[in-house]
Amino acid sequence: MTTISKADQQVEQKCWEFAQVLGLSEPVSPRVLQAATEDETYAHNLLVSRQQPTFLNYLLANPPQIKLSEPVPEEKSNIELVGKAGQALLRWAKTGFSVVDDEVLERRENACLACPNLLAPEKLVQKLIPSGKVSQKVGQRTGDKVCQLCGCNVGKKIRLTTESCPDKHPTAAGMTRWGKPSAAARNEELRMKN
Ligand code: SF4
Repeated sequence: MTTISKADQQVEQKCWEFAQVLGLSEPVSPRVLQAATEDETYAHNLLVSRQQPTFLNYLLANPPQIKLSEPVPEEKSNIELVGKAGQALLRWAKTGFSVVDDEVLERRENACLACPNLLAPEKLVQKLIPSGKVSQKVGQRTGDKVCQLCGCNVGKKIRLTTESCPDKHPTAAGMTRWGKPSAAARNEELRMKN
């Protein structure tokens, strides 16, 4: 008789929980769960594609390969996966995948349109993200362009409250191109407080 370890059962449980977040009726595979907890771009693309079955299925069938710095025994790797997946699920649930208001959307979009990191998609997975036609309407001005620093589809990235710009503002010290304090500036502020 095959016995399933507690860690295996917990991984299975997290696979079910993640499937529920994505609106699926079957659990995601442990590889998908691991890739989503290790690769923010992959997780982001899964989350923004929840209503688009063709692209979602493609992503689920093609999780990126996660390279470990050293081999980890299966039991230990499952325990680590359960911990990371639990944190990620909590983070995603907390945000409720909420979107920004029109003013913030326009400000972010203006910054991306003026940014040298805004490029046409090159990777297949980026090209597959369904994007509306480019128009002069706020929220549609970047079309299918991607941010070369984080790999995200910019038209989708700028809508989510959880997202931030990964680049330094060209003139305002400690700020990102979206006019918010950079991660380094936030960490420094926390360090000063403690
Ligand atoms: S997210 Fe930031 S770095 Fe990326 S394209 Fe927009 S402004 Fe540029």
